[in-house]
Amino acid sequence: MRFGFDIDDTLINLREHAFHIYNRKLNQTIDLNEFHKLNTLEIHTLYGLSDIEGKEMWNDSLEEIYFTDCAIFSGALDFLKELEQQGHEIFYITARNKAYCRKTKEWMIKQGFPVKDGNFYCGMKDHEKINIIQKLSLDYYFDDKPEVLNTLTDESVSCFVKDQSYNRAMNLPRLVDWSEYHEKLKAKGLK
Ligand SMILES: [Mg+2]
Repeated sequence: MRFGFDIDDTLINLREHAFHIYNRKLNQTIDLNEFHKLNTLEIHTLYGLSDIEGKEMWNDSLEEIYFTDCAIFSGALDFLKELEQQGHEIFYITARNKAYCRKTKEWMIKQGFPVKDGNFYCGMKDHEKINIIQKLSLDYYFDDKPEVLNTLTDESVSCFVKDQSYNRAMNLPRLVDWSEYHEKLKAKGLK
């Protein structure tokens, strides 16, 4: 089988990592519960920042957000490693800016993710992901962003939405916990 994965907020807990960095940099102690209540992908409203200020804050913090110790969602790494062991194809499809692609691939390898040369797609826009997903004839695709998943509704690929506070309105098979999902697939006999 051919599996495609978005990275940020699908495999790794990037937004929450950014939240902790913002708290530190802005000398704030916003409660994590407030973060979990947000129904927007952007987190700057928690700090009273305008959209422009929020964008600046994000861009100024990006190197630190991307390339430090962002947590991997529990069970995600084990799941992907097992897929690789069983001979499935794993593709990464991330809309991170082109300038960060090489470093992102290196970071993923350093975390232990199975990354095959040629299976790492980066630097496209959200609405362009569909072209890659079609070209790769994926069987499964996982993402957190409604803007991406909404483009895939007519495709044959089985899509899953990684559960986040900002995507609860999406009516797609929902993946809350990677370990649970892994167990379910095993029970269905995916080898
Ligand atoms: Mg994402």
